[in-house]
Amino acid sequence: MNKIEINNLTFNYKSGKSEYLALDDISLSVKQGEFVCVIGSSGCGKSTLITLLAGLQTGFTGEALIDGVQITGPGTERSVVFQHYSLFPWMSTKKNIIFGMEQVKKWSNAEMSSRADEYLKRVGLAEYADKYPKELSGGMRQRVAIARSLAVESEILLMDEPFGAIDTKNRMDLQELLLELCAKENKDKNGKTVVFVTHDIDEAILLADRIIFMEPKRIKEEIAVPFGKDRKRKEVVASEEYSVLRRKLVSLFYAELSSKVGGEEVVL
Ligand code: ADP
Ligand code: MG
Repeated sequence: MNKIEINNLTFNYKSGKSEYLALDDISLSVKQGEFVCVIGSSGCGKSTLITLLAGLQTGFTGEALIDGVQITGPGTERSVVFQHYSLFPWMSTKKNIIFGMEQVKKWSNAEMSSRADEYLKRVGLAEYADKYPKELSGGMRQRVAIARSLAVESEILLMDEPFGAIDTKNRMDLQELLLELCAKENKDKNGKTVVFVTHDIDEAILLADRIIFMEPKRIKEEIAVPFGKDRKRKEVVASEEYSVLRRKLVSLFYAELSSKVGGEEVVL
């Protein structure tokens, strides 16, 4: 059985009498342990897809199943990381991570405290347990958000441009951290299933097992990425497959651009 399965999902935003069709009859399945990147230009419906999978928005037609069960709201088997840090400013970093675990009700206070310390260590912030979000840089806050989403041990991680507001160097660092943490979880357990939204081609190729390219409202193409879970950026970037995938994705973005301006399709 697929971990996530979407069949003929259609979603309209409704406000008063007006409606806006945001997703039109999309179908997609994600296997357990798979890392899927959803890529596409702004406004094509990526965040809408994440909020539907998170159960933060309902009222769609069609099927959206987790382990074969229709999504009707949020659940502890899913955790979400957004672009803008969703940390509580009045809680220390450690308390923010503990708060996530408290919602799951699986651990004692002592366990939550030691797990929070462990995950802070994993994201390189052991010394920042008692700091407040305003005392941390953007990259550090996003590390805390990642630590929190991993500490709850959810089977599914939904990430909506989590590194979108972070400078290049810190972004590269966080991408590698995420790869490393997912590879570790894959060895320890059955493997996390990740749906990661980005509009960055290189980020998608580096992280994904499969890339879903969206055009407005729909999925245009699915592209398999041939690198394994233990991939290293250096090897990925140096490979022939990387250039091929990059050209392919640039062509897809270009095709959308040229269809908008009425020009000829660009083939690179
Ligand atoms: P993306 O994340 O790919 O940039 P979104 O999923 O945020 O795209 O938005 C898809 C489309 O739905 C856009 O045209 C956007 O304007 C519209 N949209 C998003 N949120 C709402 C909302 N709350 N009400 C009405 N329309 C919305
Ligand atoms: Mg978005």
